Amino acid sequence: MALFGSSGIRGLANKEITPGLALKVGLALGSMHDSAVIGRDPRTSGEMIEHAVISGLLSAGCHVTRIGMVSTPTLAYAARNYDCGVMVTASHNPPEYGGIKLWNRDGMAFDSKQQDEIESVIQNKAWKMAEWNSIGRVNEANVIEEHAEMILGKVGRTSLKVVIDCGCGAASTITPYVLRRMGCHVITLNSQPDGFFPARNPEPVEKNLEMLKKATLAFGADLGIAHDGDADRMMAVDGLGRFVEGDKLLAFFGLRETKKSIVVPVDTSIMVDDVLKGRKVYRTRVGDVYVAEELKKRNADFGGEPSGSWIFPGISLCPDGIYAAARLVEIVENEGRLDSLVDELPAYPMIRGTIACSNDKKEAAMGKIGNGLMGMGEVSSIDGIRVDTKEGWILVRPSGTEPKIRITAEARNNVEKLYARAEKVVKEAL
Ligand code: MG
Repeated sequence: MALFGSSGIRGLANKEITPGLALKVGLALGSMHDSAVIGRDPRTSGEMIEHAVISGLLSAGCHVTRIGMVSTPTLAYAARNYDCGVMVTASHNPPEYGGIKLWNRDGMAFDSKQQDEIESVIQNKAWKMAEWNSIGRVNEANVIEEHAEMILGKVGRTSLKVVIDCGCGAASTITPYVLRRMGCHVITLNSQPDGFFPARNPEPVEKNLEMLKKATLAFGADLGIAHDGDADRMMAVDGLGRFVEGDKLLAFFGLRETKKSIVVPVDTSIMVDDVLKGRKVYRTRVGDVYVAEELKKRNADFGGEPSGSWIFPGISLCPDGIYAAARLVEIVENEGRLDSLVDELPAYPMIRGTIACSNDKKEAAMGKIGNGLMGMGEVSSIDGIRVDTKEGWILVRPSGTEPKIRITAEARNNVEKLYARAEKVVKEAL
């Protein structure tokens, strides 16, 4: 199995993501860089992995700055002052997962070429170990305030009432404070960091946000905000307690941020193309790092994923869920109720589902699925298999981070039929 997936190195803590592996990542990274900043989300495996990475970095002669428990966008922002950044996180995965994600100074995650370099050093044991008198040193810094100040410098004042569900993740250290300083009346849910994620699954999808929907309505708040475990993602609930679908939030931000071009993944609704008529829509593989890479290459105005990653290149090439929350609040303050603004957008029926499939069976299954889908329409393979039909499109792709195959179908009508056809092909292939 390749070390890096679509979201960095990620797997079951102490089974796949072990201190031994983390040590090697530190050695490899430290062999190529003079200084690194390291942070972690609140997972139970976080400190264990962090210490192992630090040992490797120091052994290779790299100086390390620890910034403690922070959001991923805070770490990516801090990376501008160092040769590289290391975030110990498994993002939105369940609590038993751990992971390591590497960052460049410009807030961009390591690209495929950089990941290959690290992997090759590890495979060939080609790291260097420093002499006794040039072993790296550790110091500590608090950078949350700098990140908060940067965001507060970009958004206006407001007096909205907002419920924030941090999901017991790293957002607890920053989002409620930033929104309060904007002037919001903030009500917090699950804003005590806890690596067991006792309140809800860290992924900010609708089924995990029932408490936020109820609380937003019950408190009469203007909107609700939810983050994943490391706060690079942000999703919202409107003042009527309705979850705002990811494609709608993408179109919502896209409309306001995009002058010429936008970058979205291949599983984004065709509604976004319709809403942004006249502006160029670039499609990439699924994964915020691919969106960021394409955004940088095309010099696009905005990039986003319906899963809740919003990339504002004027802020950072790392999706920043905290800035996205502040910007959303600012838009609602200036333009009026979120439910009305969202209802102005068109909606085409879409079904997203997953079917369990172990990682070692994915490749063979995708081959069979490709054959099964052939003949349904125009086939493309930017990521997984996308088939455009007369009535809409379907996309079948293996998850980059979990033992699942994802199916998406969208159609102007009878989406159930289209989804069922794809699901049948996938089930037959397994
Ligand atoms: Mg995340």
